[in-house]
Amino acid sequence: MRIVDHVIAGGAGKPAARFGDIFDPNQGVVQARVPLGDAAVLERAIAAAQAAQPGWAATNPQRRARVMFQFKALVEKNLDELARLLSAEHGKVVADSRGDIVRGLDVIEFACGVPHLLKGEYSVGAGPGIDIYSMRVPLGIGAGITPFNFPAMIPMWMFGVAIACGNAFILKPSERDPSVPVRLAELMQEAGAPAGILQVVHGDKEMVDAILAHPAVSAVSFVGSSDIAHYVYSTGTANGKRVQAMGGAKNHGIVMPDADLDQVVKDLSGAAFGSAGERCMALPVVVPVGEKTAVALREKMLPAMAKLRIGISTDADADYGPVVNAAHKARVEGWIQTGVDEGAELVVDGRGFKLQGHEDGYFIGPSLFDHVKPHMQSYREEIFGPVLQIVRAENFEEALRLPSEHQYGNGVAIFTRNGHAAREFAARVNVGMVGINVPIPVPVAYHSFSGWKRSAFGDHNQHGMEGVRFWTKTKTVTQRWPDGSPDAGNAFVIPTMG
Ligand code: NAD
Repeated sequence: MRIVDHVIAGGAGKPAARFGDIFDPNQGVVQARVPLGDAAVLERAIAAAQAAQPGWAATNPQRRARVMFQFKALVEKNLDELARLLSAEHGKVVADSRGDIVRGLDVIEFACGVPHLLKGEYSVGAGPGIDIYSMRVPLGIGAGITPFNFPAMIPMWMFGVAIACGNAFILKPSERDPSVPVRLAELMQEAGAPAGILQVVHGDKEMVDAILAHPAVSAVSFVGSSDIAHYVYSTGTANGKRVQAMGGAKNHGIVMPDADLDQVVKDLSGAAFGSAGERCMALPVVVPVGEKTAVALREKMLPAMAKLRIGISTDADADYGPVVNAAHKARVEGWIQTGVDEGAELVVDGRGFKLQGHEDGYFIGPSLFDHVKPHMQSYREEIFGPVLQIVRAENFEEALRLPSEHQYGNGVAIFTRNGHAAREFAARVNVGMVGINVPIPVPVAYHSFSGWKRSAFGDHNQHGMEGVRFWTKTKTVTQRWPDGSPDAGNAFVIPTMG
């Protein structure tokens, strides 16, 4: 059976004691295995990173940027192969996998501007004969721990900026779909990054704990579910590391009575069911404002859902494919049952869906709940599957309160033709990323990505200037070039510039 090995400079270590299964979600069978590493595996990666990083940091930023340009060109050249590999392990359709990779490349493109991004600040004549300058210095070794749902984009959010800034980076990708991260590390070396600058260590909690405990790791970037994000944040910071940890989500789409409902239904179909709902910026909750809006929306949503095509990930006509594995399928179906038990109206039940010829694949049909209430557990928690929940609101204020008071605060969208309502909503909603007639408001690479509340722990967002700040520390130099005459004044008093 195919083994997806670590990418560690300096060759193979001892054979792994534990392995994880990588499934083929279209067929429901194991297709490959991944070694689950431990502290000894990490130690080898740290040694290689320590050997490579000082030279890389000393390489001028323009040369580092050239490696990033070359990496981008190589990923583009291999886009088809990478997208197919991604789909084969994740289950999302190939066009969506291409999007996963291309959105990651946007961050690489941003990172190509690193000579400009790293320029510091300079103040001439801050005091008598005194100039002050500040510079951004890489942290040393950074680590990234990433989820299964964007195995290309999220690693690139992290290592694109970290490496361009002069750090070495150790990636611990999801053990469920680790092949694309491995290929990315290989391509980074082919692009000219020294061995040890981008390495991949596989594993589960044991490897994550080893990363969080290792004194040579200066910063950890995590994306995954909220409980684990919180654990990584609290453990990493307790160990003196800089940590950003993005968590789960439950994004709401507010539909105002004046919205273009045909467009809303189109947007919702993609945002709720695309990638089988396995996106942290999916829209699994829709909030129609007013009874008339709710009735009309539900009426239009039903035929749109009936038209959705579910297929294997290589089916070019499929809207979405299987979920990632059997455990996740069971979890999503469990949430559907919880919704029923809690008294929500299950209008469309996607459980029991079978794709002909792929009866063992992890497919789930689209589900629709209506009359979901804020106290229900199936509303309060993330489902992360092809399930759309309608929560009816009487008016704008109630609709605004729902996402604002939810434990998660990743993304939110409002659909309206009323500029004032949209502006008011954007200003007041207690959520990190807002879409106005945009269902999935993932910011472009030169802005930054982060939710609020239990969707993110830590102070820095991903990519954009926030990413540059996360992966560097500031050094400030105060310099004076005296003319030789002795100083006047009292040396025992804190100096002032006046
Ligand atoms: P997950 O939390 O199960 O896994 C994320 C990472 O943590 C993986 O690398 C995994 O190996 C590791 N891990 C798993 N169990 C661990 C443990 N007990 N201790 C330490 N590390 C552990 O998440 P997932 O299922 O791979 O991804 C889906 C989740 O990620 C969803 O909650 C989704 O909303 C979230 N997500 C958030 C964002 C965001 O930017 N906010 C983006 C994508 C996904």
